[in-house]
Amino acid sequence: MGLLDGKIGVVFGVANKRSIAWAIAQAWAREGARLAFTYQGERLKENVAELVSAFGSDTLLMPCDVTRDDQIEAVFQELRQRHGRLHLLLHSVAFAPREALEGRYLDTSREAFRVALDVSAYSLTALARAAAPLMTEGGSILTLSYYGAEKVVPHYNVMGVAKAALEASVRYLAYDLGPQRVRVNAISAGPVNTLAARGISGFTEMLRHYEAKSPLRRNVLPEELGATGLFLASDGAAAITGQVIYVDCGYQIMGM
Ligand code: NAP
Repeated sequence: MGLLDGKIGVVFGVANKRSIAWAIAQAWAREGARLAFTYQGERLKENVAELVSAFGSDTLLMPCDVTRDDQIEAVFQELRQRHGRLHLLLHSVAFAPREALEGRYLDTSREAFRVALDVSAYSLTALARAAAPLMTEGGSILTLSYYGAEKVVPHYNVMGVAKAALEASVRYLAYDLGPQRVRVNAISAGPVNTLAARGISGFTEMLRHYEAKSPLRRNVLPEELGATGLFLASDGAAAITGQVIYVDCGYQIMGM
C-alpha cells in the first residue's frame, strides 16, 4: 500500500535526471501516484520523454512554457479529459537571464526583473489557478525555493527577489485554497548541482560553503528532497499549509 495510491499528479520542471523535480517525481511515483509531466520547448522533449518512459508508455507528456497561458490551459484541459481530477502539483521551475545572476543586484534591468518574476514566481499562481478546479478531492501544491529569498546570497540577486515573491504567493494561495482542502507549501532546498544552479556565478563555492558551515557538514541529497516532497504530498502533512520547509542540512539556522 503506497502513501499516494490513487493520487494523480502533474510535474513541471524536469529538465534531466539531476532536476530536483525528477527526485520528487520518483518519490511520488514510488508511493503509487500516477504522474503527468511537462517540458519547456522542443530542446528538452527527447530527454524528458526518455526519463518519463520509466513510468509507462502511456505517461502524459506535454509542452508547457509557464509564461504561456495557452500552453497552461492545454495541459489542464488534457488532464481533465484523461483523469477528470488532480491531487498533486509540483512547480519546480525558475529562470533569470544569466547576466542578472552575476555582479550587482543594483544593475538588474527592468526586463530581467520582469522575466525572472514571471517565470519563477507568477507561474505558481497561474498553475495553481488552473489546477484548483480539478482538485475536487483536496490536493497538495508544492514549489521549490531558496534561502536567497530571506537573506542576501551574493550573485543570487533578482532570483532572491523572485523567490521572496514565490514564498509570499505560497502563503496567499494557501489561504485562498484552504477551504477546498488544497495545501500549498514550499521546500527551501540547499544547493544541488543541477542545470539551473550552474547558471549562478560562484555556485561551486556555494556547495563548499554549505559543506563547511551547515550543522550537518554536508550538502543535501536529491533523494532527501524527494522524501520531503513525498511527506508534504502525503496525509502525514494534512495540517501543513502555507509553509516554507528548509531542507538544507540546517544551514538556515546559522548566523555565522
Ligand atoms: P533544473 O533541473 O534546471 O530545473 C529547472 C526547470 O525550470 C527546468 O526544467 C527548466 O527548463 C524549467 N524552466 C525554466 N523556464 C521555464 C519556463 N518558462 N517554462 C517552463 N519551465 C521552465 O534545476 P533545479 O535546480 O532542479 O531547479 C528546480 C527548482 O528548484 C527551481 O525553482 C530552483 O530555483 C529551485 N532550487 C534549486 C536549488 C539548487 O541548488 N539546484 C536550490 C534551491 C531551489 P529549461 O531547462 O528548458 O529552462
